[in-house]
Amino acid sequence: MSRPIVATVNQQALRHNLAIVRQAAPESRVWSVVKANAYGHGITRVWQSLAETDGFALLNLEEAILLREQGWKKPILLLEGFFHESDLVLIDQYRLTTSVHSNWQIQALAKAPLSAPVDVYLKVNSGMNRLGFRPEHVSNAWHKLRSLKNVGDMTLMAHFADAENPEGLIEPLQRIDRAAEGLDCPRSFANSACTLWHPEAHYNWVRPGIVLYGASPSGNWQDIASSGLQPVMTLTSEIIGMQQLNAGDGVGYGYRYHAPQAQRIGVVACGYADGYPRHAPSGTPVMVDGTLTQVVGAVSMDMITVDLTPCPQAGIGSRVELWGEQVKIDQVAKAAGTVGYELMCALAPRVPVKVI
Ligand SMILES: *Cc1c(COP(=O)(O)O)cnc(C)c1O
Repeated sequence: MSRPIVATVNQQALRHNLAIVRQAAPESRVWSVVKANAYGHGITRVWQSLAETDGFALLNLEEAILLREQGWKKPILLLEGFFHESDLVLIDQYRLTTSVHSNWQIQALAKAPLSAPVDVYLKVNSGMNRLGFRPEHVSNAWHKLRSLKNVGDMTLMAHFADAENPEGLIEPLQRIDRAAEGLDCPRSFANSACTLWHPEAHYNWVRPGIVLYGASPSGNWQDIASSGLQPVMTLTSEIIGMQQLNAGDGVGYGYRYHAPQAQRIGVVACGYADGYPRHAPSGTPVMVDGTLTQVVGAVSMDMITVDLTPCPQAGIGSRVELWGEQVKIDQVAKAAGTVGYELMCALAPRVPVKVI
């Protein structure tokens, strides 16, 4: 038998979460974001469960081509556009929609020998100062692109720095509205946070990622507790050893935990080399045999140690849920000072994945 750790990917939860997105943005079409290997879930494992979507959005040409080869015929959006002029050959061949965020990309589009026009998402810098044209340059970029025979349908695209905040879109939306005055353009502005919480920014296409996988865009599980979203990934393992501690005994590297009184602990086959966050402190929630308990001591490469006080019946082979249906990935992430996004994307290749 192999090591007992396994990540389960729940296809029904994916379909369900996409339906929740549709309810939240009933007037919009949906780009399901599957970048970073579908947020660590595996693009080949998830795309068919999301096939009701209107398009897939990602970054890598390799992932886009994989989707085409597996039979996806509807739109694919490259969120960061092309990285080199030569990428346009594959964008043309595989009929991909590309974002355009810089002048060099407009010049490349102007001279590329394409077989047919490609659809373009013109990216406006909403104030986040990552990718995109500053608002005052948008109109000029739009008209330049519009004049190119290589350019087909055009959409205005933006991304926001602070979409979790109820006030976070007011100023950026005003700025973009001014920039887009007089342009007759469809718009795509909404990530997960906007999709759930900012209907005023839904427009023509929403671009949810994290909510499709059942975690919170804000990092707080409570913020999506009433949304009906279901966790897609559940990471489980088993107790492979136990120790009976006396008061004062230390646990793990650096003795980062000392038993306050006599205490039984369990050793779980899961560590940071599986993608469990190394910074998760004592107190991080974990479920043993259906009972909530906590990590004690340092996370090591291949093991963690957990308090068995609340679950006296637990023993070798007891099921441990690290995150998923019962222990929310957002709760584990928060305890470790990160976000659910990072934990799911960092699931290690050595962890076997089971699709249910
Ligand atoms: C990742 C990404 C999204 C999805 O973001 P979530 O917060 O996961 O919904 C949307 N748009 C762009 C441009 C992105 O890079």
